Amino acid sequence: MLISYIIASFFLANSQLLPNFTELKQKLEKYNFTVKIESPPQRSTYGLLEVKTRTIWINPIVFDLGIALPTLIHEATHAAQLCEGNGEIRALNLKLTPPNISRPFFTHYNDGLRRHLEAEAYTIQTHADGYNLVISLLDKHCQN
Ligand SMILES: [Zn+2]
Repeated sequence: MLISYIIASFFLANSQLLPNFTELKQKLEKYNFTVKIESPPQRSTYGLLEVKTRTIWINPIVFDLGIALPTLIHEATHAAQLCEGNGEIRALNLKLTPPNISRPFFTHYNDGLRRHLEAEAYTIQTHADGYNLVISLLDKHCQN
C-alpha cells in the first residue's frame, strides 16, 4: 500500500516536469483550443477533441501511464485537422506511411474517413520526431 502510494506520487511529480507537454498545450491555446486535464465526457478514452467547442480533454491517468505527451500529440494532430477543415475535421494527407506499430490502433475503424483521420494521428503520435512534426502542422494549418 505504502509502496504503491510512493510510486504514484513519483509519477505525478514527474508529470509536472514535461516541458514539451506544457509547450504543446500552450501552442494549442494560442490557436484557440481549450485543453482540459480532466476525464473526457467519453470516459473510456485517454484523450478527446470536441470539434464544435475546440476543446481537448486529456485524461489525467495518462500521466501515471507515462503517455501524456503522445496522447496530447495525438489530439493536437486532430486539432490541426480541424484547422485544415475550417470548422470540420479533415485529413491532412501527410506524406508519411503509418508505422506497423501504429496499425492496430486504427485499422478497426470501418468508416473510411475516420480511419484516415486516426491513421494520421497515430502516425504522428508514434513518430520519433512526432513532437516537432505536430508543432509544424499546427503552425501550418492553424495560422491565419
Ligand atoms: Zn484520434
